Amino acid sequence: MKDILTPQELLELMRVLQGARKVVVCGHRGPDGDAMGSALGWAEYLKGLGKSVAIIMPTPCPDFLQWLPDSSTVIYYDHKPKLAQSLFESADLVCCLDFNALPRLQDMAPAVERSKAPRLMIDHHLDPDPAMAGFVISHPEMSSTCEIVFRLLYQFGGYEAMTANGAAALYCGMMTDTGGFTYASSNPEIYLIISLLLQKGIDKDKIYRNVYNNYSPSRLKLQGYILYEKLAFFADNRASLFTLTREELKRFRFIRGDAEGLVNIPLQVKGMRLSISLREDTERDLIRVSLRSVDDFPCNKMAEEFFNGGGHLNASGGTLPFPMAEAVKTAERAIEAYKDLL
Ligand code: 5GP
Ligand code: MN
Repeated sequence: MKDILTPQELLELMRVLQGARKVVVCGHRGPDGDAMGSALGWAEYLKGLGKSVAIIMPTPCPDFLQWLPDSSTVIYYDHKPKLAQSLFESADLVCCLDFNALPRLQDMAPAVERSKAPRLMIDHHLDPDPAMAGFVISHPEMSSTCEIVFRLLYQFGGYEAMTANGAAALYCGMMTDTGGFTYASSNPEIYLIISLLLQKGIDKDKIYRNVYNNYSPSRLKLQGYILYEKLAFFADNRASLFTLTREELKRFRFIRGDAEGLVNIPLQVKGMRLSISLREDTERDLIRVSLRSVDDFPCNKMAEEFFNGGGHLNASGGTLPFPMAEAVKTAERAIEAYKDLL
């Protein structure tokens, strides 16, 4: 397997780690499989080096990730802001995993900014904010932050000590960020990594079921409702859009994580290049936007230009600060503006 760090970067990272006794590992708001998995995998490695490690996420992870071993040790800023603030304050290293700019932490960003500890970014999103961390390990060409963490451990000689729990966490993030290895997953080395993770005794089929076959009956009905009643097609079926209001979410007993994956479904239509979902946030007065595409359609450009967001080429998101009717108009304008690329 190719080394991820140059010899010089390796020395520098070793210096960063050596100087740290108390480490905080954090990920983005609404942590997904990659944010949770990479944080848990990286934390296990750091603990093995004898460090005192806390994992802090801005908001809780969805129900379908609760099975992750040791996920109960993760501290959520929303629930325990005081504890989180004191951990950031007393940390001598803050590791930022799976996000490229502090605003992705929302309410937790000031606590990280106030911390005097040096910051290490490990991430695979495009356009990392260089001011966010003193030491940046950014690899947008990689499937997931979990893949980066695995490669770091491997190069550091940390593979031996990896447990089945650490391996399950890293496998989970690689799987979820590639839609079960159906996109961003053609690098042959990914399968070398999977093989090495399997050798730790993980049950990859069970991990798949834990994540993807974990729906409540009402979540499945929500899916049916969206596809039957709410999905609109544009540009000769090359783009699609659906909306979800708070009322609808309530009707289908929406819980955290239920929206996950819905936006991918319209891409099953032949020739579909872009899928957009607009969902009213359950707590704040804003619309959460998710974009998914195939091939070279740039979701991230559209998200930046129209939805105050960003992300990857084929998976991006953002927010709109106005009512649904206006959000729909914005989405329709975005589709119109990008119709030549569809
Ligand atoms: P999702 O649709 O799953 O919420 O987000 C998909 C991807 O879009 C995320 O992995 C992240 O890279 C990006 N993303 C989502 N929301 C935002 C946002 O508000 N700002 C930025 N810059 N990126 C986002
Ligand atoms: Mn990721």
